[in-house]
Amino acid sequence: MRGTHGWAEIDAERKREILDAIRSGRATRGPSHAELDITDRCNVACYFCNQQDVRTKQQISLEHLTALIDEMAAMGVRSVRLSGGGDPLAHREIGRVLDHLHSRRVVVDNLTTNGALLGDDLARRLVEHRAREVVFSLNAADSGDYARMMQVKPVIFDRVVENIARLVEMRAAGSHPSVVVQFLLDRRKFRDLPKMYDLGRSLGADRVAIGLVLNVPGEHFDPDILLGPSDGDALRPMLEETLGKDRDAHLLQMFFPVPEWNAMVDEIRREIGAAPPPPLFATAPSFEERNGHCFFGWYTATIRGNGDLYPCCLLMLPDYKPLGNALQGRLADHWNGPEFRRLREEQREILLEGDGAKFDPARHRVIRSQCVEYGACWLKNIYFRGDGEFYRQLAETLEEARRHPGFAARFRRTWEQRKPALLAAARRALPADTLLGTWARRLRGGLRHSG
Ligand code: SF4
Ligand code: SF4
Repeated sequence: MRGTHGWAEIDAERKREILDAIRSGRATRGPSHAELDITDRCNVACYFCNQQDVRTKQQISLEHLTALIDEMAAMGVRSVRLSGGGDPLAHREIGRVLDHLHSRRVVVDNLTTNGALLGDDLARRLVEHRAREVVFSLNAADSGDYARMMQVKPVIFDRVVENIARLVEMRAAGSHPSVVVQFLLDRRKFRDLPKMYDLGRSLGADRVAIGLVLNVPGEHFDPDILLGPSDGDALRPMLEETLGKDRDAHLLQMFFPVPEWNAMVDEIRREIGAAPPPPLFATAPSFEERNGHCFFGWYTATIRGNGDLYPCCLLMLPDYKPLGNALQGRLADHWNGPEFRRLREEQREILLEGDGAKFDPARHRVIRSQCVEYGACWLKNIYFRGDGEFYRQLAETLEEARRHPGFAARFRRTWEQRKPALLAAARRALPADTLLGTWARRLRGGLRHSG
């Protein structure tokens, strides 16, 4: 059992609604799943945090949150992921937020936290409310390294370890929530890898996730600390030892952004006679890459700690213009408003183009290149591609829509293709001091979304 980005919570009828909306190019009645960053605050200061340059001290007030949760539930939201900009447990009213979600039958699909603020009461709520998954970013195997990584007092490490152990004890034989303990490697401490594994396993985690510290642009970040492809030989003995420990337990979740290292992991597994781990997420036979583009515009929304709305957490970038603000006006108005509509139009176009889809900055104002280029976004279908029936129906839906793209889509495509020539002709024909002449000149400059 693990987080599914909400997919486990939605029924056949809701999936049908998503497919019908993709076919017709309309909106669903609302998102089914939301990523809710309830606060930008954090109680630690990880040196690798990618939010440090965009972090505010804002949090969504309880009053706003309860109203938002009520509205989301009425629109059909069945699950949330609590993570993002800061640590969700740093929200001053997190207990009441969890209770309110539960009272509206909205499941916590995933809570990602550093765990330092997970006291008894919160742990009990997560167990009783049957949260699906809690990911602890522990990152270090001892208090000294923890203090370096998280830039806090070493004693916090012991508190986090106690909090993880308590949550595991509270759920006892129950399966909710699934507990993941996550560690990050850098050049200073990759030799701790076996120790990290031992710690995660001794805590009773369902999975021990190992990742790398990734580059964070910014002056305060020293890129020499990052492991790179040339460190593979030095890393190998640690991998051998750790994979040996995990041989029969299969707790390790390890995938590196360095393909040679993943090949090395496979090779070591073969050498020690370990079975390849089951895939983290299955892929159904009916899933085809050509039908695997993103449908988040019909399925989910991400809400940041200041209320700003995004298609997903990966596009929560400093230079991305939000699609609205959930604290200003009704969420339903944003979902049906011009920015989300534009997102759906662009995503539908890419879905219909399938294999031949190409990112075009002149045409695509809301999606980014990583939404289109093969392999550039891991998030868009990883949780869903095991749903054979859905991808079978999606294939049918897209085939039908490809044959009959609809008047609006044909009109938009023709307009996009002919726009430069038509506007050039209009500029020549219309005097600058007339309304139409001004309009033609403005359009020529392109009314660009900054995202
Ligand atoms: S716990 Fe998460 S949000 Fe807080 S500083 Fe670390 S990486 Fe950033
Ligand atoms: S393709 Fe990826 S980056 Fe783009 S909207 Fe979907 S999930 Fe986000």
